Amino acid sequence: MKPIFEDTATAFSLKSDSELERAYFLFKMIANEPLVRIGTAMTNFAIKAKLPVEGLIRATVFDHFCGGVNEEDCMPVVDKMYTKGVCSVLDYSVEGTDTEDPLDDTLQKVLHVLDFVKEKDAIPFAVFKPTGYGRFALFQKLSSGEPLTDAEQKEWERVVARFDKTCKKAYDLDVALLIDGEESWMQGAADTLVEQMMRKYNKKKAVVFNTLQMYRWDRMAYLKELHERAKAADFKIGMKVVRGAYMEKENERAAEKGYKTPICASKKETDANFETAVAYIIENLDAISLFAGTHNEESTYALLNLMQSNSIANDDARIWFGQLYGMSEHISFNLAAKGYNVAKYLPFGPVKDVMPYLIRRAEENTSVAGQTTRELSLLKKERKRRKI
Ligand SMILES: Cc1cc2nc3c(=O)[nH]c(=O)nc-3n(C[C@H](O)[C@H](O)[C@H](O)COP(=O)(O)OP(=O)(O)OC[C@H]3O[C@@H](n4cnc5c(N)ncnc54)[C@H](O)[C@@H]3O)c2cc1C
Repeated sequence: MKPIFEDTATAFSLKSDSELERAYFLFKMIANEPLVRIGTAMTNFAIKAKLPVEGLIRATVFDHFCGGVNEEDCMPVVDKMYTKGVCSVLDYSVEGTDTEDPLDDTLQKVLHVLDFVKEKDAIPFAVFKPTGYGRFALFQKLSSGEPLTDAEQKEWERVVARFDKTCKKAYDLDVALLIDGEESWMQGAADTLVEQMMRKYNKKKAVVFNTLQMYRWDRMAYLKELHERAKAADFKIGMKVVRGAYMEKENERAAEKGYKTPICASKKETDANFETAVAYIIENLDAISLFAGTHNEESTYALLNLMQSNSIANDDARIWFGQLYGMSEHISFNLAAKGYNVAKYLPFGPVKDVMPYLIRRAEENTSVAGQTTRELSLLKKERKRRKI
């Protein structure tokens, strides 16, 4: 496969000169760790103190990483990206909660998104997080194998009902549904529940997608076992394959509680594990559909090579590439230009509610120095090409 990600004219074709400058400025700031720490603390304080900082946040990080405050607000971005063949996944970015009311609010929001995106070719997926639909502690208790109290059992039935309502609606409207992966100590219960949904709604094709976090060394075995069960019960598997976003938390908890960390011993092992999972899915594409959620160029090239060597069409409906909005435009837009299926997560929500998401993006880009360096060098190259 010839390199395709160096083409910055395609990568940034939707960015005006001033948007390019903003992106460059933003990634330069994010690369500076002390600045991110101070900026995060100041922003949190300003929001809590109700200082008028929303306009500033909106004009900088928010507009770079988010689509808008609600679905309608996202449409200009969605439509613009779709002119270049890049689809969107509207991601209502809510965080976990301890009470039940917000869970029903999230359910209503996701159901609304499903109605909103039906028949919109530019938005082929909806998405939610398990802890948007149930308390983290409840998933955790169930995952640990501890018996639930009667009240908790009833609460769990409400969580199951929320999942089922959403999956049924996605199935009825023929919109694929991605269910995000979270911390390993709550994920067992989520996996069991998502499998139940796949058994019900993935009879003909993958509508419901679970997430496989390949920084976990036990995930290949899990995928193979799930595949056996899918063959026996005759349902399709949908899998978003990612590396995983909670590595530090996972390692810290394991060390604190004295159990073996579920995380691979090195980045190299995670990389190999990711590529093994992708290769396994490509070998079994009749049974498993893939959403490869990654900003890693090597993994993306590896998947492109596998598609080519197996004579799989670039736009095979069972294979999607996914990146986050505001990141890795060189991957998304160059893939779409070659006819591959690409969808970018487009977070939306009120500015103060998406702050945790934005702070994570800033911190992630600071700690994964390689990624920021890459973003910056591409932006620099494009500025030079445009002579700005
Ligand atoms: C569309 C999309 C959807 C996503 N959905 C989810 C989701 O549902 N759940 C979720 O958890 N994450 C999700 N992520 C985030 C993802 O898991 C990664 O954190 C992020 O994409 C960075 O990984 P990478 O493959 O892009 O690139 P890279 O930069 O190559 O990989 C970085 C990742 O490698 C792993 N890693 C780094 N150092 C080590 C080490 N020393 N040992 C072992 N492993 C290491 C970590 O997972 C780290 O995040 C999603 C990402 C995208 C693009």
